[in-house]
Amino acid sequence: MKILFVASECAPFVKTGGLADVVGALPKALGSSGGAARVILPAYPALAEVAATGREVWRQDDLHGGPARLLSCRSDGLDLLLLEAAHLYNRPGNIYLGPDGQDWPDNAQRFGALSFAAAAVAMGALADWQPDVVHAHDWQAGLVPAYLRQHPGPTPPCVMTIHNIAFQGLFDPSLMTPLGLSSSLYTPEGMEYFGRIGFLKAGIACAEKITTVSPTYARELMQPEFGMGLEGLLRARGADLSGILNGIDLDVWDPETDADLVTPYSAKRLKAKARNRDAVVTRFGLATDRDGPLFCVISRLTTQKGLDLLLDVLPVLAARGARLAVLGSGDKALEAGFVAAAHAHPGAVGVIIGYDEPLAHLMQGGSDAILIPSRFEPCGLTQLYGLRYGTLPVVARTGGLADTVIDANEAARTAKCATGVQFAPVTAAALEQAVHRTCDLYAQPSEWAAMMRRAMRHPVGWDVSAQAYHDIYAGLLGAPEPQA
Ligand code: ADP
Repeated sequence: MKILFVASECAPFVKTGGLADVVGALPKALGSSGGAARVILPAYPALAEVAATGREVWRQDDLHGGPARLLSCRSDGLDLLLLEAAHLYNRPGNIYLGPDGQDWPDNAQRFGALSFAAAAVAMGALADWQPDVVHAHDWQAGLVPAYLRQHPGPTPPCVMTIHNIAFQGLFDPSLMTPLGLSSSLYTPEGMEYFGRIGFLKAGIACAEKITTVSPTYARELMQPEFGMGLEGLLRARGADLSGILNGIDLDVWDPETDADLVTPYSAKRLKAKARNRDAVVTRFGLATDRDGPLFCVISRLTTQKGLDLLLDVLPVLAARGARLAVLGSGDKALEAGFVAAAHAHPGAVGVIIGYDEPLAHLMQGGSDAILIPSRFEPCGLTQLYGLRYGTLPVVARTGGLADTVIDANEAARTAKCATGVQFAPVTAAALEQAVHRTCDLYAQPSEWAAMMRRAMRHPVGWDVSAQAYHDIYAGLLGAPEPQA
């Protein structure tokens, strides 16, 4: 079965969030269940070296104002189709934002072009390869199912995955014609979103199947509090919507082999984790004489992630003898808030503003607990890394966080199945209680160690989920649906 993945980011080449991790890992995981996937993504400057090894397989003289071509190449275990279009993608910095921090004004053309090229491949533009199924990810790939829908001939079926409904790709309707979209699709049941073109809405309306990245988020998305205006359409398409948890790449995130750790460790050799903790403490300028847990945050700093609530709780965290190491960037007010908090709580709170992949690994290796107080969280990956590294997740009970962490309530502790702490509602008061509960648990070393070992055994790889995607593709191709 041949699958074409369409996405704007893919680890390890270009990443701004969890989408990249999924697009980098799932094609490999599918390989082991009999799928053969290729990933189409823009040839950003970060991919220049890989693109230089590519073979041209398709070209277009004018794609939104300049020439474009697809280069077929292989790197890091992935088969890639890189869309080279210098006028659209050859720009420094963030792949979505200009130097002013605003979306690039031509993002509709940039990602419309990606979808257009992907649809061309799906319709048979390459001499030697045509996918059986197209798998489009997030709004940047949302036009693929629309282009396929308006094609008069037969086309492969399409799966649309929503990684985060907060990002919808909304643009002026005057772009319908320049993007080559049929006006018949511009309806409230189709791609019109309150007077604008919605790229993600187009994908949801036109794809044969829709998935999102956890069962709880799939249910939440059909409610007005979470659906961001698309809940009605998603309810209407409920029979075609499913939630499949993300996995993580177990080779990249493995405390026994992680080259970014000071000392590797395992569930059998937990004591070695302490040396990684010392390294985190030093790196963040934290005090060495506190006996509470070392919490970490590794996150985009945005209101989605609920980190404004954490700022309110820091005096309690510090008073409990705990420490907090924060790595992140994003909202300028939150960045400033955490920098000020580090000054207000010297030794208890340390902050590094920025994006640093090796440091994220070290923090997972060296922290006792990872805090994720998100207001909504489609799946979340950092709690999965936390489980694998025995860094117990302290999470809001929402989306994928609710589906992957077992709260240490009395029943779960008695049944010996707890792997972390959940709290609800997402308020500073509930988060404060969660911090207290975590500190209390940490003060019981044998129970804490048992939870760590249990968390490290919790399955967080791709096996089960890759099979679930495989079953969806197979269902679309008419193969018998798997038995429940
Ligand atoms: P989202 O996709 O909403 O940002 P996820 O938890 O799904 O959240 O994925 C975030 C990914 O980005 C994880 O792999 C996490 O380790 C990584 N990450 C987030 N912020 C940073 C940072 N400042 N430095 C390094 N890695 C980060």
